[in-house]
Amino acid sequence: MTNLTMFSLEGKTALVTGANTGLGQGICLAYAKAGANVIGVARRSCQETADKIAAFGGSFKEIIADLSDTSVIPKIAEEADKAFGRVDILVNNAGIIKRCDAADVTEEDWDAVININEKMVFFLCQTFAKKWLADQKGGKIINIASMLSYQGGIRVPAYTSSKSAIIGLTRGLANEWARHNINVNAIAPGYMETNNTQNLRSDEQRSEEILSRIPAGRWGTPEDIAGAAIFLASDAAAYVHGFTLAVDGGWLAR
Ligand code: NAP
Repeated sequence: MTNLTMFSLEGKTALVTGANTGLGQGICLAYAKAGANVIGVARRSCQETADKIAAFGGSFKEIIADLSDTSVIPKIAEEADKAFGRVDILVNNAGIIKRCDAADVTEEDWDAVININEKMVFFLCQTFAKKWLADQKGGKIINIASMLSYQGGIRVPAYTSSKSAIIGLTRGLANEWARHNINVNAIAPGYMETNNTQNLRSDEQRSEEILSRIPAGRWGTPEDIAGAAIFLASDAAAYVHGFTLAVDGGWLAR
């Protein structure tokens, strides 16, 4: 019989960025339900996430930090250590998208997207992996990629660049750290109902074009990410390294 305890996160601590809303909030809830202590990092209050987790008796603490600049990392690492002790799971979920014709993208907007979606992801991975390399007790990293890790997208060149980089970074870090029991993997969500896609969903024509191309026939929800996020954070994924798992209603199968 299959031992389902391999999927349990009981006794583990997970740190999730962008925890106040959307997919980050969904991942926090999933981890708390799977037994983990959860630390949410966000630039504003995670009260809604905290309340939802408290409703089923889960364990959650927040760290307020603006992830647009790497200078906040030492504070995050220090507060995370104080929250529940050792962090075992890091989810790099926070991200932004700026829609604009490629010809008009400013350097400021380009840097803003790359800094949070790519540079911050690497340096958070480095920060926690250094601890895990030092104590040799392993760890799990899950980076949030996108359909635009595979495709070009339209009017989102910085976002596409950053999310394409996430797949490469995930593979590269896995190559270095797999032998130390550090699993670095990614999840590529399809088109999900969150703030990130609010503009797309309110554009009737784009919304219809997208929906008609999703084999599952519906947009995804934060709950749809739960299974993949738990799997990649759990002992069940011990031999999974450098892989990006699409949770996309079949979008990439078209
Ligand atoms: P969302 O609701 O906009 O969530 C993005 C999260 O990132 C929010 O918590 C946001 O905080 C946080 N964030 C942005 N800038 C930040 C900063 N400077 N400092 C701290 N936190 C910051 O969108 P989402 O869909 O859940 O996005 C989560 C991840 O999934 C992103 O990496 C996104 O690219 C990726 N993704 C989403 C989809 C989709 O269809 N929704 C598809 C593929 C990939 P605020 O609420 O304060 O802005």
